[in-house]
Amino acid sequence: MNRTDQLRSLPSVDEVLRWDLIEPLTSRLGHDRLVRWIRAAIESQRKRILSGDAAESTCMTSEIMSAINALVDSDHGQSLQRVINATGIMLHTNLGRAPLAQRAIDRVNDATAFANVELDLASGKRSKRGKRVMELLAQLTGAEDAVVVNNCAAATMLVLQAVAGGREVIISRGQLVEIGGGFRLPNVFAAAGVELHEVGTTNRTYVRDYEAAINDSTGAILRVHHSNFRLTGFVTEPTIAELIAAKRSRPDDGAVLVPVIDDVGSGCIGDLSRFDLHEPNVIESVAAGADLTLFSGDKLFGGPQAGIVVGQKKWIDQLRANPLMRAMRVDKMTLAALEATAEIHLEGKAGEELPLMKMLCKESDTVADSCRQIVRQLGSFAGVEVDVVESESQVGGGSVPGVGIPSAAIKISGCKVDQLATTLRSGRPAVQARVADDSLWLDLRTVADDELQLLATRLADALARVAVDGSV
Ligand SMILES: *Cc1c(COP(=O)(O)O)cnc(C)c1O
Repeated sequence: MNRTDQLRSLPSVDEVLRWDLIEPLTSRLGHDRLVRWIRAAIESQRKRILSGDAAESTCMTSEIMSAINALVDSDHGQSLQRVINATGIMLHTNLGRAPLAQRAIDRVNDATAFANVELDLASGKRSKRGKRVMELLAQLTGAEDAVVVNNCAAATMLVLQAVAGGREVIISRGQLVEIGGGFRLPNVFAAAGVELHEVGTTNRTYVRDYEAAINDSTGAILRVHHSNFRLTGFVTEPTIAELIAAKRSRPDDGAVLVPVIDDVGSGCIGDLSRFDLHEPNVIESVAAGADLTLFSGDKLFGGPQAGIVVGQKKWIDQLRANPLMRAMRVDKMTLAALEATAEIHLEGKAGEELPLMKMLCKESDTVADSCRQIVRQLGSFAGVEVDVVESESQVGGGSVPGVGIPSAAIKISGCKVDQLATTLRSGRPAVQARVADDSLWLDLRTVADDELQLLATRLADALARVAVDGSV
């Protein structure tokens, strides 16, 4: 068949819809969804013919059918699904950050149908949305009150606008950060309608710099934890306590202190210094006297995505009254997960119940044992080298940059590791590993005990497949 004949023999969408092989797909996926993929498959076949890639002898039906199946599979592969995290990065933003505790998962389940989101069950009267969560968060952090919004970025916007809208906010040049995903503080200031007043330099800012900057238009002082990078060397930055102790009255009204807002980011509650992790602590920030303290729900706090603001009641009331609050409020499932996570912290059970803390606490020997347990089940494949090696886990998610936690990994080399990685990602449950130095690394610190068997099965299967493909 020449090119013109090949093009002529391309079927129409309606013809494809009548194929016997398409019938089961139509009933499974619905006519409208399928038509898009049929159209795309015909189009890609047309392109292949035009570019001379389609062999003259190809069977048009089977080519198009396999293109449709590939598109359907690819869509299925993209659906939100469980992923076994073998990267060793505990708060992996691409994998949804903190995994939820079972108690939080159960609470979300309970909330999915009708739930008492804004109803006091004792009196039958309407209640404040998420009242109990706010009380738990206040109790946990020692603050007077709390509010919850979608994430810490939203919390920053809300707080700046509600507390200092139309005024200047003082911030150190060393803290004018980009949090990631284009969230740059100067732009956030602009969007929140506050004016940026930078003080100090990138590496050194003193309390006196803040004090000298306070004027009649000052609305607040903002301190932002630079979560995703480390400043080392010749660096000075006031602590939150020093900022609170600074002379903060405005010249026009000596009785009013300029509020101090502390964005600590990662939501560290306990003391993590035994892991050599020195993150600003929410409880310490509140105790030091910050007017408002902001943190993420899904970083070290170990809960769902949320922006949590705790602090003095007069400011929290002001946040509640702000119209942005309604636009940023969280859904009942987030409230449910957050409630359970806050309970776990309050009961002192973070180490037992929060997956994140369990990962963090694992000894590297224990991780190495898990690695060896899996390797024993793998069998051997010609040319493939499988070793248990030392590795470094990371907290990730823009927390504790540059600090590696000693861990162990399964290292696989001597085969097409990229293909192995793709095979692992495309099966169920998907497995995300790390490719470096022509090897595939599976750091098992981030794999839960009840996932080890599944991982062993998937890994053995993927290795066998890559071997069968003749690429080993
Ligand atoms: C991570 C982080 C944010 C953004 O938090 P999200 O919950 O991801 O919106 C803001 N500020 C700091 C200091 C952070 O570390």
